[in-house]
Amino acid sequence: MNDTLLPGLYIVATPIGNLQDVSRRQEMVLRQADIVAAEDSRVTAKLLNHLEIRKPITAYHDHSADAVRAKLVEQMGDKAVALVSDAGTPLISDPGYKLVRDARVAGHLVTTIPGPCAAVAALTLAGLPTDRFLFAGFLPSKAKARADAIAELGAVRATLIFYETGPRLAKALNALAEGLGDREAAVAREISKAFEETVNGSLSELAARYADAPPKGEIVIVIGPPGDAEATSETDIDAALADALERLPPGKAAREVAKALKVSSDGLYERAMALKAGE
Ligand code: SAM
Repeated sequence: MNDTLLPGLYIVATPIGNLQDVSRRQEMVLRQADIVAAEDSRVTAKLLNHLEIRKPITAYHDHSADAVRAKLVEQMGDKAVALVSDAGTPLISDPGYKLVRDARVAGHLVTTIPGPCAAVAALTLAGLPTDRFLFAGFLPSKAKARADAIAELGAVRATLIFYETGPRLAKALNALAEGLGDREAAVAREISKAFEETVNGSLSELAARYADAPPKGEIVIVIGPPGDAEATSETDIDAALADALERLPPGKAAREVAKALKVSSDGLYERAMALKAGE
């Protein structure tokens, strides 16, 4: 039994590069926790050493065997378990959601000790609209899957946020320019570290900038929402559908138009059928 912390699960955010970003509460929970569950025990050991905290670390990943998760959940009955990831907020493109799910199902205390998250930090740096945003994690690395993922996001009227790596950056920016149109964007790199840098430009400008010089370090891409000029009228959609129906059956025509005009495919098939029927 722990004298300071109630038993349960403590989701503890950690710095994304600058160790001075550890909050007093994060440090207190890591110090007092009975168990620290971490994605990579070597990475977390460095943070604990910096804080002069000595305690064993249990490796935990959402792909860990069910038995590992079940044991941690059982331990939460009378122990304080702190969950950390390598950097930033656990569960955000990082392990943890299954552990939280099972801890809640078991009726344990689940609480969070909030802190850095690269996606939100990049959004604050980018100078792009912040009222609506969609975090889309890492894009797939294979070209077709990446293009499909981008096409799904084309009609979303929000700022988009992606995690990326240096070697893949230029390809990703090109695919984004192709799939979303040449929107305003920002590449935020090495946030909170010595070489922090945020570069603004259109997607094609940024793709050209990084084409021959893949940047080092950790990267977030932030992309502004589609402008009003890109809003597509029903007349435009009907004209494109009518054109496509001369060559294609309604399902294919609807898919082609959704992709070409970067509009949602919702209702397009029905509209194509209606046009075909002469309505
Ligand atoms: N859970 C973390 C969070 O809250 O941000 C994200 C973990 S994800 C596995 C790692 C990715 O986050 C990196 O590949 C990079 O895209 C982004 N990232 C993490 N730290 C960063 C930093 N200091 N600057 C820019 N991007 C960062």
